[in-house]
Amino acid sequence: MAARKSAAKKRAPKAAPNFARLKPGGFLLVVSGPSGVGKGTLVASLMEQREDCVFSVSATTRAPRGKEKNGREYWFLAEKDFRAKTKQGWFLEYAKVFGNLYGTPNHEVEGKIKKGKVVVLDIDVQGGASVRRKRPDAVSVFIAPPSFAELKRRLVGRRTDSAEAIARRLATSQIELPQYVHYDYLIVNDDLESAKSQLVAIHDVERRRIGRLSK
Ligand code: 5GP
Repeated sequence: MAARKSAAKKRAPKAAPNFARLKPGGFLLVVSGPSGVGKGTLVASLMEQREDCVFSVSATTRAPRGKEKNGREYWFLAEKDFRAKTKQGWFLEYAKVFGNLYGTPNHEVEGKIKKGKVVVLDIDVQGGASVRRKRPDAVSVFIAPPSFAELKRRLVGRRTDSAEAIARRLATSQIELPQYVHYDYLIVNDDLESAKSQLVAIHDVERRRIGRLSK
């Protein structure tokens, strides 16, 4: 009799979890790929479509372009200030990209993830490698062109770079493109609308990971 009672106790169902109260956790979303592949456009579209995303404003030593504002597109720093901040451990990662320094400030990242935000980084492929090393929990997305010829066509079409600069960007892309194998996801930016939806889909599915839920 006593044995039957204890078996029944073991089989008694647990109270159902309160699913409605489970909150999705924040994470770092790294978007990288070669220059001219369109990652800026894809990131901007994600930011517009998903309110839980915050853009990580990088620091750079390059001069502002057009209507760029300090603290919005970038934190614009003099090279000596940037270098001083690298020594103070101010950056999660930094790299020299086509002659200028770019870095992700730690303060743009940690607190926001803890608050449940998706912190989005638009960084070059060297930066992507550093972040994956330091933050293996980051979700990384590689944006690739449909072909090398198409990347060349886009860089020429932008009309922002000299022939020499385009040649340099293309030479760098040949080192960067094979590195897609180290990323979690690949988006081939062939059709812009489809690429935008794919980035949103990656965000949405990663937001549903059980391991990041909190009560
Ligand atoms: P642009 O000067 O055209 O805005 O950016 C040039 C390149 O620098 C792009 O490939 C961009 O993704 C990259 N970049 C921007 N911010 C960072 C950063 O914080 N770290 C690294 N490693 N690259 C960055």
